[in-house]
Amino acid sequence: MSSKRVIIIGSGLGGLSCGVILAKNGYEVTVLEQALQVGGCLQCFTRRGARFETGMHFIGSAAPGQTLNRLMHYLDLLPDVGLSRLDPMGYDVVAMCGERFAFANGRDAFIEQMSARFPHQRDNLARYYDLIERVAGASSLHSLKYAESDAAINTEYQLRPIDQVIDQLITDPLLARVLVGNLPLYAAERGKTPFSTHAFIMDFYNQSAYRIVGGSDAIAQSMQRSIERLGGCVLTRHRVTRITCDDTHATGVEVNGEQWFPADYVISDAHPMRTLDLIDSRLIRPAFRRRVSSMPQTVGGFSVYLDFKPGEVPYMNSNYYGYHDTPWDCEIYDEQSWPKGFLYMHFCQQDNPQWAHTGVILSYMHMRDVERWAGTHVGRRGDDYEKFKIEHAERLLDAVERHFPHLRDHIKHYYTSTPLTYRDYTGTEAGSMYGIAKDVNLGVAGRVPHRTRIPNVLQTGQNINSHGMLGVLVGTIVTCSELLTARHIYQDIIQANQ
Ligand SMILES: Cc1cc2nc3c(=O)[nH]c(=O)nc-3n(C[C@H](O)[C@H](O)[C@H](O)COP(=O)(O)OP(=O)(O)OC[C@H]3O[C@@H](n4cnc5c(N)ncnc54)[C@H](O)[C@@H]3O)c2cc1C
Repeated sequence: MSSKRVIIIGSGLGGLSCGVILAKNGYEVTVLEQALQVGGCLQCFTRRGARFETGMHFIGSAAPGQTLNRLMHYLDLLPDVGLSRLDPMGYDVVAMCGERFAFANGRDAFIEQMSARFPHQRDNLARYYDLIERVAGASSLHSLKYAESDAAINTEYQLRPIDQVIDQLITDPLLARVLVGNLPLYAAERGKTPFSTHAFIMDFYNQSAYRIVGGSDAIAQSMQRSIERLGGCVLTRHRVTRITCDDTHATGVEVNGEQWFPADYVISDAHPMRTLDLIDSRLIRPAFRRRVSSMPQTVGGFSVYLDFKPGEVPYMNSNYYGYHDTPWDCEIYDEQSWPKGFLYMHFCQQDNPQWAHTGVILSYMHMRDVERWAGTHVGRRGDDYEKFKIEHAERLLDAVERHFPHLRDHIKHYYTSTPLTYRDYTGTEAGSMYGIAKDVNLGVAGRVPHRTRIPNVLQTGQNINSHGMLGVLVGTIVTCSELLTARHIYQDIIQANQ
């Protein structure tokens, strides 16, 4: 057993899961978090007794034996994290052109349900679904099969945009749009986002979809407890201000500009641009800094958190995506056309509730819309910012009421967040929802390596492999493999599931 000291910068899903895996393997783990709460995008908040989730709203592939369930076993999450299954016949509901289209779990049910509305597309749907499974299954990491390298199919579909592949497979233009109805889950852009991203997300949720009972902060709290149980520590209000280096290696980190923590390894869960800002070493080439700082970020979000009157709003056991006639291009809007689409969900306070206590409506919003308040701080941004938020909340509520008439009558209070809120609570770049955007046109230049030129500084989190519960955990395995080997981690996962 090693007793090397690992400092982890940031307590998001990526940082905490690296912490659990390394602590299990004898490393001395310290997680340093700048915020008051652990979790990053796993944070929840409470207002007037009502609880709201800010980041992770549902997870997939969590039924016994499925990939995420096996990872949750390995990370000792299952005893602490309650799951409530979304409607297997319609975990996602896409509404547009005056119709509602439900996504059913499982290959056969999905094809059957879609073919009932699009009978002439039955064969194309089967071809589409088989491709999804083939692309997702070809990734050894996503399917948790140890392999030295992924099959070539992955590379092909990492380089082809979603719209190009779907338009080739599906000849009905409405169905082609329905199939990308949940694209806010990965902020997909036409002509840019790789088909492989779509395939991983579709496969992940189509296997099974669950809400986290009581909120996703249960995941962060469980991992914090595991790290502490294994002898490590997690410190909040500890902002890393510098990674100190000698000529060849990192020696430790400086916190809040004063305290210094020595380290044998430093793993950063912060955005790669912010990680590079912390390193003042000639080992990092200026060209690399320029490349990372010019990478595109996914769009930000504007959320309206709804506190419902008790016993009035039946719990909706689905995610509801509303559009006028297409899910594409909702990130391209002006003052008049916003919002072009929305995602509406209810939070789950107990397993399979009858009534919704709280909910959220989420729509895209760019940082430039709130840029004029960029120099202000949470709670002190001024009256014009409050006015901006109310105006946008009312417009979003108008859009949702076209699908759910009189929803306002059932709302006790509502609260809002903008890309600035995310910037200030989770440190995401430009308030972006999912970090660096994948773009087929950038090829490998659009990817961030988990290694840095400083041999004992590694990166983890949503910018390494992909965002989301599975995407981040896969990135964690990649990062921890540098210290433990992938084979060892896979063996441990298998053992934990026996
Ligand atoms: C609105 C929204 C909805 C989402 N919905 C879902 C969903 O339904 N399902 C799903 O699977 N995923 C969802 N996601 C994505 C998922 O939540 C994220 O991909 C994931 O939680 C990111 O984890 P992370 O560890 O990469 O980063 P983060 O959660 O961003 O954590 C990074 C942490 O590092 C800290 N930090 C940064 N710099 C420093 C520093 N210098 N010193 C100390 N600490 C620092 C930050 O404060 C933060 O806590 C959603 C995300 C958003 C924003």
